[in-house]
Amino acid sequence: MSFQNPVFIPGPTNIPEALHKACDMPTIDHRSPLFGQILHPARDGVRKVLKSENAEVFIFPSTGTGGRETALSNCLSAGDQILAARNGMFSHRWIDMCQRHGLEVQIVETPWGDGLPADLYAEILAADTQHQIKAVLATHNETATGVKSDIAAVRRALDAAGHPALLMVDTISSLASVEFKHDEWGVDVTVSGSQKGLMLPPGLSFNAISDKAMKASESAGLKRAYWSWAEMAGPNDTGYFPFTPATNLLYGLNEAIDMLHEEGLDNVFARHKRHGAATRAAVEAWGLEVLCQVPEHRSPVLTAVMVPEGHSADNFRAVTLRNYDMSLGNGLSKVADRVFRIGHLGDFNDLMLCGTLSGVEMGLRDAGIPYRAGGVQAALEVLGQKFDAARAAA
Ligand SMILES: *Cc1c(COP(=O)(O)O)cnc(C)c1O
Repeated sequence: MSFQNPVFIPGPTNIPEALHKACDMPTIDHRSPLFGQILHPARDGVRKVLKSENAEVFIFPSTGTGGRETALSNCLSAGDQILAARNGMFSHRWIDMCQRHGLEVQIVETPWGDGLPADLYAEILAADTQHQIKAVLATHNETATGVKSDIAAVRRALDAAGHPALLMVDTISSLASVEFKHDEWGVDVTVSGSQKGLMLPPGLSFNAISDKAMKASESAGLKRAYWSWAEMAGPNDTGYFPFTPATNLLYGLNEAIDMLHEEGLDNVFARHKRHGAATRAAVEAWGLEVLCQVPEHRSPVLTAVMVPEGHSADNFRAVTLRNYDMSLGNGLSKVADRVFRIGHLGDFNDLMLCGTLSGVEMGLRDAGIPYRAGGVQAALEVLGQKFDAARAAA
C-alpha cells in the first residue's frame, strides 16, 4: 500500500512528525491523577488559541460534527428559531442538523462563494422584536467554497438590534490557521476540531462556551446524553472524564498548541494569508477563476478553483492523482465537478505550496484544461516578496 504524504486537501491536514511522536505514548489510567496533568493544559491551551480568558472549554472524543451537535443540543429546545446562512456544504449540514433536532431554521440563502451576509442578519434581527430567534449560526470558514466570513460583523448585527440570541460559530477549518477572537467577538459557543488547523489526527471536537450559553444549557430542552456539558463539567474540573478520553490525542493537542505558540499565532495566521495570496496569484495567472469573487472573503486556508465550462474538475483531480500521487479537494454538492479545492492549512510551508501548485499546473496540462502557463512563477513572485526588504537592505 502506498501512502501519500503530504496532503493538499483542506483537511485532515498534514501531521508533523513531532505530533505523531507526541501521540505515541503508552496507555495511562485515565482515572488516576496523572490524567489531570494532560487535561488541564489541553483545556487552557484551546482557550488561549481561540483568544478567550474565561470560556468553559470541553473536549469530546469525536469529529467536528459532534462538536456542532454538542453546541445545539446543550443550548436549545425543540421549536426554537435559528438564523443561519447557507453558503456552502458545511453551513448546509449544520442547518440540516438543526432541522433534524426539531429546530426552526430561518435560512438566508447565500450564493456559494459569498461570505455570510451580516447586513441581512442585521435586518432580520432588528425585525425580530419579540426575540423569537434563539441562536445565530455562522461558519467562520466555509470549507466547501473557500470563503471566510466576518464574525465581528455578525456580533455587531446582534448588538445593533439589542438581540439576545446566542452566537454559535463553526471554526472547524479556521481555528489555529485564521485569526479568531472568541471573547472580542462575543461568541457564545465556538465549535472546532483537531484535524485541520491543529494538525492532529481526527478525533477531538471542542466547544468553548460563554457564561450566557452555560446558563442557557440549564433550561434547554433538547435531549443529550453523551454530549452533555453538565456531565462533562463536574469531572473535568477535578481532572477527570465521564467516559474514556482520547488521551493520546490530548498529548498531541498539548504539543500542537506549544508548536503554534513557538511560531507565534500571528505568524501562523500571516503564513496562511501569504500562502492564500500566492495561490490566488497562480490561479489568476493560469487564467482560471477563484470561486470566491470578493477578495476580502477569500479564505487564507484553502482556494476553490473553477474549471472552465465544459471541463470536469473531477477528471482533472483523477489525472493529478494518477500522474503525481497528489490529492486535491473535490467540489461538494452544488459545485460538484465544477471546482477543485487546494488546501493550504495546518502544517504547510513555502516549498509544500510550490509542490502543490506545480502539481496543479502539470495536472491542468495533462487533463487538457485550457490554461496559461506561468501560475507557479506568479506564486514564486508573491512568496519572494516577504524577503524583498531584506534583499534591498543587503
Ligand atoms: C471539516 C468541517 C466540518 C466537519 O467536521 P468533521 O470533523 O468532518 O466532522 C464542519 N465544518 C467545517 C467548516 C469543516 O471544515
